[in-house]
Amino acid sequence: APAPATNFVRNIIDEDMRSGKWAGRVETRFPPEPNGYLHYGHAKSICLNFGLAEAYDGACHLRFDDTNPEKEEQEYVDSIIEAVQWLGFKWGKHLYFASDYFDIMYACAVSLIKAGKAYVDSQSADEMRANRGTLTKPGTNSPWRDRSVAENLDLFSRMRAGEFAEGSQILRAKIDMASPNINLRDPAIYRIRKATHHRTGDNWCIYPMYTFAHPIEDAIESVTHSICTLEFADQRPFYDWLLDALATAGHFPRPLPQQIEFARLNLTYVVLSKRKLIQLVDEGHVDGWDDPRLPTLIGARRRGFTPEGFRLFAERIGVSKGDAWIDMSVLEECMREHLNDSAPRRVAVLDPLKLELSNYPAGQSEQCHAPNHPLKPELGKREMPFSRELWIEREDFMEEPVKGFHRLYPGNMVRLRYGYVVKCTGCEKDADGNVVKVLAEYMPDSKSGTPGADNYKVKGNLHWVSAAHGYATEVRIYDRLFAHPHPGQRREGDAEEMERNFLDDINPDSKQVITAWLEPALRGAHPEDHFQFERHGYFVADRRDSADGAPVFNRTVTLKDSWAK
Ligand code: ATP
Ligand code: MG
Ligand code: MG
Repeated sequence: APAPATNFVRNIIDEDMRSGKWAGRVETRFPPEPNGYLHYGHAKSICLNFGLAEAYDGACHLRFDDTNPEKEEQEYVDSIIEAVQWLGFKWGKHLYFASDYFDIMYACAVSLIKAGKAYVDSQSADEMRANRGTLTKPGTNSPWRDRSVAENLDLFSRMRAGEFAEGSQILRAKIDMASPNINLRDPAIYRIRKATHHRTGDNWCIYPMYTFAHPIEDAIESVTHSICTLEFADQRPFYDWLLDALATAGHFPRPLPQQIEFARLNLTYVVLSKRKLIQLVDEGHVDGWDDPRLPTLIGARRRGFTPEGFRLFAERIGVSKGDAWIDMSVLEECMREHLNDSAPRRVAVLDPLKLELSNYPAGQSEQCHAPNHPLKPELGKREMPFSRELWIEREDFMEEPVKGFHRLYPGNMVRLRYGYVVKCTGCEKDADGNVVKVLAEYMPDSKSGTPGADNYKVKGNLHWVSAAHGYATEVRIYDRLFAHPHPGQRREGDAEEMERNFLDDINPDSKQVITAWLEPALRGAHPEDHFQFERHGYFVADRRDSADGAPVFNRTVTLKDSWAK
């Protein structure tokens, strides 16, 4: 593989390597909150953080940021572990739960109080909001801001003991109510929540705020570079203030972890917001969290997207400090590239029409040989039975050909790929005039791979499946879930008063279920085996609905971008 392109994060790390700041150590972390399934955006963050650890011979921690008791569940923990493993990354011994640090976080808060850097505020939430000020107006000090250390210690321990109602007291950092950065106007750091936590149960009734917990988690784990998305840039001064205060109090050694922000993934034709994903699932617009059309990683896996394709994608889109939109076709092309290289070729007829070779003996069959991969002869060939009755694609026959049509029409000759040249002699129709069977004669001396094959010069080259040997099964033709690049966003021509709902932009043709005829070898496909169905695209044996010896297939992506304008 080519060396990864450099980017501003790598430049920072390279500089740290030169200066010896971390004595050659690189430790990153991927810190999901276990309150949902991972999506394509998380894959970018995973590839970045784990990729840096791989590149610098460091480590990346998988840390569950589970400091919020209300929305977190073991089910999500399990699915996140499975997704990161699926992407092929390893955390070794570095699997952490932020909730394991609640004691340390509490001790850190006590230290801040003792240093006069935190206080218990007894204002109501409304009062606090009113006193916070605005972008243009400084905030107002709380009347409780100058409580003594002793009083603050007492109140904080009573918060912990459960003496106060939710919302009645809150611990705040004491920084500067007039700071131009609102995040420094005495941010809340511990709040009362009488909720059961999925790991610590009812041990705690106070929980740290994310902005307080996160820097501490990084420092406890000796993370060197803490990489997060751009919206946290305004939090960086607090991150630094907090860790500096705690290092001064002797909690952590220096140097302290460095927060670095990068642009999150914005991808067209999908939604990545958790709220919208939940709505799609709950309202039944898709078939569950692993629906192949959803941009979740479990959905991607069922779709047939590959870990290699995601890594290629992450490499290709790079890492920047500026928000940008990436077109879905970039991700699809990465999957195509990996699958073109890796997926064996097979034959499938998706819209079957019978072809009868009137001069081929009934009840007889023979083997043809088809390469498993045109560019990789070492992958060998497979046998495909050939017989009198075959399935071909309906679109490969026209009774009255349009100009430039080189496939089957009366009088024309085509090659049945890996088999014989045949000459069309006509067709049979039902009472409504629909073509139900195409008739042809085969040329016995034209078999592919025999000397006679070269005597025939034909333009059409069709795929086929022997009717007596083929395997009929369900195939799901998936396409993009949304028909518009920015679901729910107003577009030119929208009436002034119209609010566009992202659900209105769902692609009505994003899933089509058909019964296709596949070459017999596909009967033995295992769940998650990838194939290129010649002329059609890439398909995967569905990992959920395939039975032993009876796989069903999902279309991963077409051979060419069908959305390009
Ligand atoms: P929420 O905050 O609603 O729970 P989230 O997407 O931020 O959602 P986290 O579990 O906090 O979920 O995310 C874990 C990590 O993944 C974070 O470090 C976050 O920056 C990163 N991440 C989330 N969404 C994206 C995205 N679209 N592109 C890149 N990284 C992302
Ligand atoms: Mg999340
Ligand atoms: Mg988050």
